[in-house]
Order: sequence, then C-alpha cells, then structure tokens
Amino acid sequence: MGRNLVRSALFPGSFDPPTRGHLDLVSRGLAVFDSVTVAIAQNIDKQPASQMFSPEERVALWRECLDERAADASLSVCTFSGLVVDFCRERGHDVILRGLRNGVDFQYEFQMALTNRQLSGVETVFLLASPENAFVSSSLIRDVVRHGGDVTAFVPDPVARALRERPKP
Ligand code: ADP
Repeated sequence: MGRNLVRSALFPGSFDPPTRGHLDLVSRGLAVFDSVTVAIAQNIDKQPASQMFSPEERVALWRECLDERAADASLSVCTFSGLVVDFCRERGHDVILRGLRNGVDFQYEFQMALTNRQLSGVETVFLLASPENAFVSSSLIRDVVRHGGDVTAFVPDPVARALRERPKP
C-alpha cells in the first residue's frame, strides 16, 4: 500500500465571520497536516444582504487573525467557487478538513463527506471542536451582532475590531 505522508489540507467554509472555533481548528490542523489552506466559499446563492462580511473582507480578516499567530508558510487563505472537490484537486490538496461540534454537524458532514468522496475520491478528515468552542457558530454570532450584543468572547480580536468598526445599519 502506497504511503504519502506529506499532507496538505483544504479547510473550506463560509467563515462569516471567522470565529475562535475556526481558528482553533486551523491551529490544531497544523499539528496534523503539513499545510492548511483556509478556503472561503463565494456562495452564489447567499444574498449579499444576508452576509456580514464579503468574501474578500473575510480573506483579509483571516490573514489578520493568522498573522497574530506568527505568520507561517504552511498556512494560506483564498476564496473559491464551484465544487470544493474540484478546487481541492485543481490546487493539489490531499484532503478536506472539517470540524465537528455535535450530532447535527455530524449528520450534515457525513452526507457531504461521502458525496465528495464518491464524486472525486477526495477524503474528508474531521477534528472535534474543542469543548470551549463547541457552541460557537458564525450564524449565532451574526444574530447576536444584529441585535447589538457583544461577541468579543467568541471571535478573534481582529474580527471583534472589524465588527465594532462596521457602519451601523
Ligand atoms: P459552512 O457554511 O461550510 O458550514 P462554516 O464557516 O460554518 O462553514 O464552518 C466551516 C467549518 O468549520 C465546518 O466544518 C464547521 O463544522 C467548522 N466549525 C464551525 N464552527 C466551529 C467551532 N466552533 N469549532 C470547530 N469547528 C467549527
């Protein structure tokens, strides 16, 4: 059986906005893989009005967040559109990295991972969320922010700053 231990992981998602949970997953992913690339989905069916940050703003935020953890050549950030498995193969990544917070994530990810493997042969590798982040989600953060709440505890400092500086609707 062939063994190739050099592993490049693609971590795709919406990341609107990036949270402490996402950042934790990337840090832990780097302990498992040689490189991790965060890939922000340019989601054509999500209306700009329902977005907190544009995909380009999310790239800039991720870069700021990762800089704070000592910039590392094994980390990169990009956007993608289309099928994640096509992007993964085009860019030569070995696996897709995803996080699991609970059974609801599992139901969804199980179906997605098997579909992606069937489509392309690309495997998905999961890391469990850290207990302190397991309840954190971008959608909940968007809700709290829309109602004027403070999400500083749930997001990295650059994201908290960007949220404070956003023009109020
Ligand atoms: P998507 O819209 O593709 O689900 P998200 O930005 O919500 O994108 O999440 C991207 C990935 O990060 C998913 O695998 C998700 O399970 C994982 N994730 C989200 N929140 C957390 C968290 N708090 N801890 C660990 N992983 C998380």
